[in-house]
Amino acid sequence: MSLTEPGRPATLGELRSTGHVHRSVKSEIRENLLARLRAGEDAFPGMVGFEDSVLPELETALLAGHDLVLLGERGQGKTRLMRTLAGLLDEWSPVVEGCEIGDDPHAPSCVRCRRLAAELGDDLPVAWRHRSERYTEKLATPDTSVGDLVGDVDPVKVAQGRTLGDPETVHYGLVPRSNRGIFGLNELPDLAERIQVALFNVLEERDIQIRGYSLRLPLDLLLVATANPEDYTNRGRIITPLKDRFGAEIRTHYPTEVSDEVALIAQESALVADVPEHLLEVMARFTR
Ligand SMILES: [Zn+2]
Repeated sequence: MSLTEPGRPATLGELRSTGHVHRSVKSEIRENLLARLRAGEDAFPGMVGFEDSVLPELETALLAGHDLVLLGERGQGKTRLMRTLAGLLDEWSPVVEGCEIGDDPHAPSCVRCRRLAAELGDDLPVAWRHRSERYTEKLATPDTSVGDLVGDVDPVKVAQGRTLGDPETVHYGLVPRSNRGIFGLNELPDLAERIQVALFNVLEERDIQIRGYSLRLPLDLLLVATANPEDYTNRGRIITPLKDRFGAEIRTHYPTEVSDEVALIAQESALVADVPEHLLEVMARFTR
């Protein structure tokens, strides 16, 4: 969870005095990616065999500020690639202390933090969140619910006397909780159509609809999904408005060079065993 570190601004006023300004997640990623590229650093460490094909497309999509879908077969490193994107976020970023959706102290969007900001002004308490906490991943399944992704009414809060129409009775799902971060959705076509509609509403229309109540909640996030190409292009598997939301469709592939396959196996096996170099090459040739 977020910690208030000594030396870091602990209130909105202190944050402002450091010259810190609000940036969207996509501009943060774009600026950090540009800085890596200028410095000649590896923007996607550990990704092997995609240097000439996938990564340039990915860079273009991120620089253009697109949400994106990675299309590829099982075992092509889609999920791993998705996870490396978290490395492009700022290492630490300020949030309103105690906010369930990691609101930016400069521009809070939830009811609680807007009220606090109005009451406290420059004394609004600020906490700091590491980039590893700003990446959320979900494997889509046919029984993934609106409650999982968008949210539900919290029965505890209702029992405490709050009414159902009160926005503070909402228990936020994974998408609002990934506000100001990256939301990675694996196997998008496995999501039921009505859940895709709910996902689209929260991202595009910026409202959350829970049990008949509608709640305005502008979210700021990068959406990345993965899919098998056939499932993705199959008619009716993905609703058109959601498809249109993705500005980039990027195809992955199996490694094309034996040396890449060797590097990939070495990387994967380093975690579990030491495999001699010559055996790795034998394995790589076998898997082709
Ligand atoms: Zn908040």
